[in-house]
Amino acid sequence: MNAFITGAGRGIGEAIAYAFAREKIRVICAARTQSDVERVASAIRARGGDARAVVCDVTQPDSIARALDQAGEISILVNNAGAAESHKFLNHDDAVWHRMLAINLTSVYQVTKAIAPMMIAAKWGRIINIASIASKVGARYVAAYTASKHGVLGLTRALAVELNSYNITVNAICPGYVDTPMTDHNIANIVARTGLTDNQVRESLAKTSPQNRLITADEVAHVARMLVGENARGITGQAINVDGGAVMF
Ligand code: NDP
Repeated sequence: MNAFITGAGRGIGEAIAYAFAREKIRVICAARTQSDVERVASAIRARGGDARAVVCDVTQPDSIARALDQAGEISILVNNAGAAESHKFLNHDDAVWHRMLAINLTSVYQVTKAIAPMMIAAKWGRIINIASIASKVGARYVAAYTASKHGVLGLTRALAVELNSYNITVNAICPGYVDTPMTDHNIANIVARTGLTDNQVRESLAKTSPQNRLITADEVAHVARMLVGENARGITGQAINVDGGAVMF
């Protein structure tokens, strides 16, 4: 089995790549920064797994096509690449809106559209979209991110219905704050804006979870690994929260 994982150069995507490789799944690690995806693929090969790195900008259909030319048949897709920017709504530059929709939502549409025909032909597939609890609830200063992640959930549900008869499941994982470079970047921005210390901001993000902690990338990867198993064939169209119980629907 081959898995194409977008954004596998660091953070959640990197953890999913390692988790799949441990299950003997061949992993194709895709992101824009070649050195990151090479590092992850090399680490997998060094442990006896099978992995290759491809450079891919998921906001560019040509780049997706070039990456898929090098990837071979794919039966598992993890749409994980994403980015978050925060601004007060009235300070929202239109460019922010377009960037957030392009990287978090349109990319999921484009990559899935390019890969789904292989799964349909094989009459088997697994599509996992790394969404967010921002797919379910609103929060201040992240209107574009939240709209894009709500869109990912809509796409997940629509495709789950449409692809069900081909033995393709389509699910979303909805994490709360995860301890990754994205969150480090987010914390640095809040520190710069507020004058709070790094630790104070980290603690305030942790407090958004009833478990008073950040989720680890491995916890998200654990759910992804569960969803690709044959015994998960009855799970489709779902949005599984990994957030310490902050959101319960
Ligand atoms: P990171 O910023 O740590 O990693 C993001 C990955 O996506 C990198 O490998 C990055 O590589 C890649 N990426 C970004 N833009 C593109 C692009 N245009 N084309 C291809 N790859 C791209 O993020 P996380 O691991 O934290 O987040 C992963 C996903 O999880 C995202 O969709 C995010 O929205 C979601 N999420 C994260 C949460 C968190 O608290 N961290 C909470 C809830 C959801 P490169 O820049 O080299 O392309």
